[in-house]
Parts: sequence; C-alpha cells; structure tokens
Amino acid sequence: MRAVIIERPGEVRVDDVPEPEATPGSVVVKVGACGICGTDIHILDGEFPPTTYPIIPGHEFGGEVVAVGEGVTQFKPGDRVAVNPSLQCNHCYFCQRGQGNLCENWNAIGVGREPGGFAECVAAPQGNVYAIPDSMSFAEAALIEPISCVVRGFHRLSPQVGETYLIYGAGPMGLLNAQLARYNGASLVALIDINESRLERARNEFGFDVVGTSFAAVRSHAPRGFDNVIEATGVTKVAEMAIEAVIRRGKLLLFGVCPPGETAAYDAFKIYNEEITILGTMAVHNSFGPAVSVLAAGAVDGKRMVTHTFPIDDFAEAVALVRRGGGMKVQIAPNG
Ligand SMILES: [Zn+2]
Ligand SMILES: [Zn+2]
Repeated sequence: MRAVIIERPGEVRVDDVPEPEATPGSVVVKVGACGICGTDIHILDGEFPPTTYPIIPGHEFGGEVVAVGEGVTQFKPGDRVAVNPSLQCNHCYFCQRGQGNLCENWNAIGVGREPGGFAECVAAPQGNVYAIPDSMSFAEAALIEPISCVVRGFHRLSPQVGETYLIYGAGPMGLLNAQLARYNGASLVALIDINESRLERARNEFGFDVVGTSFAAVRSHAPRGFDNVIEATGVTKVAEMAIEAVIRRGKLLLFGVCPPGETAAYDAFKIYNEEITILGTMAVHNSFGPAVSVLAAGAVDGKRMVTHTFPIDDFAEAVALVRRGGGMKVQIAPNG
C-alpha cells in the first residue's frame, strides 16, 4: 500500500509498504480522509520530542473497517469509524490514577511509535475505535480528533453559559475552539489573527463578526477583558501577551503547542491580584466520544472546515499549503 514515510526529520517520501495486519484486539481501517495538523509539521521538522523515526504520520482520520483481529467484538468489516490516536500504557503512576493523557509512556498512532493514517490502511486497538453515523463523511470524521482536543480544553476550562471568549489564532484549531464556544452558550466570541484572509473566512463563512489583528482591535467589545482567553497559535510570545486580554477572575487556556523550552513572562502580581487562572490542556482525555457526538449534533460546520483534499502522492504539496497558512483544514485521501 502507499504510505507517507518520514525517515528522519526533513526527509519524507511516499512509498509502498506492507499493509498492517489485524493483530489480536486490533482493527484495520481503510483511511477515507486524514487531516494534516500542526503536529505533523513539527514531526516533519524534528520538533516533536515523543516521535520515534521512521514513522508513518497522520493521527486525524476516519475510514472503513476492512479487517478485525481475534477477540474484536465491537466492529466488523464495513463499519464506518474514527480513531482516537492516543495510546496509554495503563500501568504508570498517572494511568493508574485515570490520567492517561499524562501517561509517562505516552504514545500515539502517527505521532509516537505507531504507524498513522497517511497510508491506505492503518491498524488501531478496538478500544480506540469509535463508530460514526452514516450521515457523517470521512472528511468530517477526520475532524473528530482535533475537536476532541478542543473538547478536552473545554473540560479544563469548564466555562459557564453566557461567558465571553477571545481566541488567538483563526486557523483550524482557533475556528474549532470558536465554534465550540458558541455551541457552549457564549455571549461573545472574538478572534484575533495576523492573517487577514483567515479573519475574513471566520467572518464570512462561520459568522464570527468580532475579529481583528490585535487585542486593541476587539477590546471595545469587552472593555474589562474576556472571561475565557484561548491561545491557539502555539507562539510563546502570543501566549505571553494573551494575559492582557483576561478579565479579573478570568482564565487563560494554553491550547496551542508552543516550542518546548521557551519562556512566557507574566506579571505575578496581576495573576495574584486579579485571581487569574492559567491552564494547560494536553491532547485527548475522555473527550473523543463527546467529540463524535457534538460534531454529529452540528456544533461544528465540518463541510466548511475542510477546504483542500489531496491524493497521497501529493503529500509534499499539501504540506507546503499548510505551511503557507493557505486554506483551512487540509486533508489527504489515501484511497482516492
Ligand atoms: Zn493534530
Ligand atoms: Zn501510563
């Protein structure tokens, strides 16, 4: 089968590899669509410490079950599914305390040590596989993983109905956060991005009227600041600046993946004096099932989120588009 192989950072090719086997307890999925995410770019560039090379990347995918291993009871060939790529060891300190996303041996399909979804087929343990409704396309199903990261962020934030949100970054993750905020009863959702075309898309296609290129541009809508500020750019300097937009007793959620080792400086007095909470959110945790449900319920406009689909042999071209910040969600359809 055709698959994308990252031999080592900076060295990627599309090649023929053996198809995965349905080992006991696992399911083989024929990939319908697999999204390219910022993490894939980090893996390509050697900036994601958990990755073991060589690896077949791709962790945002949906498809059809084509084979099941011994002991698989929940699925059969022909079932339409999405896959939670996160793998936990189940025996470390954190796994034993029900905090699998913080696993000391954390691994993920297409991210850590297991082959991912930029391939015609991919294997996954049945416990990571979720049925999707017939009405949901594979392109939409490939949005479930990023949505499940957003749902995890909202579980961390635990916002109240009627609150205000400011989201830094109007890329795919910023727009998913914005749509979940609206679905969650927001009274105001504002977006900031330096890319004007992304702001235009947020306004014209997703109906977010309060957008701007800086906090100053949206400040008049929430003069005292926003209840929930979500950093979705992964730029440390933005994570630092974002604190200025938080209202007293408000929260700053660091959702974007900033480069390890960089430092954001905060006015400690302000955090003390204004009772500000700064939160992290790590990948997926008890949030994949809810993500399937909210997508099926219409919380996210999946059709507008996916702007480009490439055949697997054009992977390099698709990555170049993502690097340019062109389009919204860019996907690979490995089986055409
Ligand atoms: Zn991702
Ligand atoms: Zn563990």
